[in-house]
Amino acid sequence: MAKKKKKTSGTRPNIKRLTFPEESTVTWLPMLLDAYFIADRGIAEAIRKRVSKGERLACSKGCSTCCATHVTIPVYPLEVVGIYWYVIEKILGPERPVLKKQLAEFAKGKPCPFLIEGACGIHPMRPLACRHFNVFNRPCEPGEDPFYTRRHDVLTPDERWKNKAVAAMLPFHGIRDRAKRRLAAKSGFLNSQVQNLHDINWNNLAMRMEGKKPPVRP
Ligand code: SF4
Ligand code: SF4
Repeated sequence: MAKKKKKTSGTRPNIKRLTFPEESTVTWLPMLLDAYFIADRGIAEAIRKRVSKGERLACSKGCSTCCATHVTIPVYPLEVVGIYWYVIEKILGPERPVLKKQLAEFAKGKPCPFLIEGACGIHPMRPLACRHFNVFNRPCEPGEDPFYTRRHDVLTPDERWKNKAVAAMLPFHGIRDRAKRRLAAKSGFLNSQVQNLHDINWNNLAMRMEGKKPPVRP
């Protein structure tokens, strides 16, 4: 007799891994895309659990107060590389000159330079920090950081998924061996490499978009 299927609480989110044809030649790209895939699955699962309890995700396309308000957005080295690559290679439409201008004029304290007409201009390659920040029940007010005003409405992502996503970036730093990866994860090696997106000299990326070599590394 066929076994009855075990009941599950709601449908599992069907998250697809991003793919780019360049993955076969750009060696670091699969590492970053794996990291984002792991993170996205963990986030979708955490959201699903809260939605199944009757909460409503407030984040949606076009809602971008957070991108204008937050000035502390941690980014890992591989993420910066990913953003450079994506902007230079993949933003080719009318957004390109807009983004180039924003990057060239970016200064600390301004809204995120990747915000274009209320949407993230690098959405597929947005950093883990942006992916992890999700708010429930009502959209953020202008200038509001709900982490401080209503912490209970902010998603707490599952640490296991978060750590796995970060660990997927370790081979970029030459740490491939499983034991070494565990050690690096424990020592917080990658966390010591994190930069604030708002502290990065994005003017260099604007120059690279023009094919110019910036005077200093990002
Ligand atoms: S974090 Fe707040 S502002 Fe950002 S998308 Fe979600 S609800 Fe909108
Ligand atoms: S990278 Fe994208 S999602 Fe993150 S703050 Fe900037 S515009 Fe918003």
